[in-house]
Amino acid sequence: MEKTILTGDRPTGRLHLGHYVGSLKRRVELQNSGNYKNIYIMIADAQALTDNFDNPEKVRQNIMEVALDYLSVGLDPKISTIFIQSQIVELTELTFYYLNLVTLARLQLNPTVKSEIQMRDFKSSIPVGFLCYPISQAADITAFKADTVPVGEDQLPMIEQTREIVRKFNHIYDEVLIEPKALLPDNQVCMRLPGIDGKAKMSKSLGNCIYLSDSAEEVQKKIMSMYTDPLHLKVTDPGHIEGNTVFTYLDAFCKPEHFEKYWNEYKSLDEVKEHYQRGGLGDVKVKRFLASIVNEELEPIRARRKEYEKDIESVYDILKDGTERAKEVAAKTLCEVKNAMKLNYFDNKELITERMV
Ligand code: ATP
Ligand code: MG
Repeated sequence: MEKTILTGDRPTGRLHLGHYVGSLKRRVELQNSGNYKNIYIMIADAQALTDNFDNPEKVRQNIMEVALDYLSVGLDPKISTIFIQSQIVELTELTFYYLNLVTLARLQLNPTVKSEIQMRDFKSSIPVGFLCYPISQAADITAFKADTVPVGEDQLPMIEQTREIVRKFNHIYDEVLIEPKALLPDNQVCMRLPGIDGKAKMSKSLGNCIYLSDSAEEVQKKIMSMYTDPLHLKVTDPGHIEGNTVFTYLDAFCKPEHFEKYWNEYKSLDEVKEHYQRGGLGDVKVKRFLASIVNEELEPIRARRKEYEKDIESVYDILKDGTERAKEVAAKTLCEVKNAMKLNYFDNKELITERMV
């Protein structure tokens, strides 16, 4: 079977380090592995509108930003099809049919949606579209017959919901849809990178992000202001590693070769952690080290972004071409879905002949 990837991001802001370690880095590796025949990367603007319907300008502005972020991390439009969700009406039609396969009670059980509702303070005014976005996500994934979805941990309930819809659809109608699998980062801390404020998840909506397009100075400034250990007041105090965001980021980004380059007093992260826990190592030194590492990782990304920014028209063409290609694939699946659901009245004259016998 052809291996196919579908994944995407909401254009609610520029992409950040959480996206990078949680999904983007993996996508680029998978793309370059040559093991996947089809790779679809979606800018989920229709999904972004489910909680930003009153701010369409924000969503519109961020289409280009997300596209630039994709290209700057190394997604190659010759291999990966980058497209815009709302321009593929077939996805909306699929969503409409899938709505019948999910109960309200099931939607209300989704833990990610639950916590997002709380975060957005919707209380009892939850937009129906927002509650249903896991169903539209199922339409996105299945339209491309994707078997692999590289995502962060928060997306697991969405993949589970998709799998349920696929099973139900195939059982009731016909074996048309493919059950996808989530592909999580190997590194535990990358599954849900915390924000610089120490909150559970770096998220555009929480404003606690280091963006891939931040300048070296901005990165340095944000890291210096980062949440660490509130009990580590004096350098001599013993420090805590657990829940200390600086160390979580080091777990995500630090490699052995960084010590020789940026901090040759230590040979490994374990040595740094031991010293910090013992007391005598200040936050500032650890933060400086982290800033050097993060800036090293972001430097080539920034450089590529600058190049693409010089030729925005080519980025526009990439999106247009990608969307056209993606639309063809989604239309083919929708046709199969409608056949399975017996909604193909005008493909043949069976409506007449059946009636005559
Ligand atoms: P929003 O606040 O608008 O929901 P977001 O920052 O959560 O934005 P999304 O566009 O919803 O970003 O997520 C896109 C992808 O990035 C998903 O696969 C998600 O799992 C992953 N991702 C987002 N934030 C993180 C994070 N902090 N750690 C790991 N993965 C993340
Ligand atoms: Mg999100």
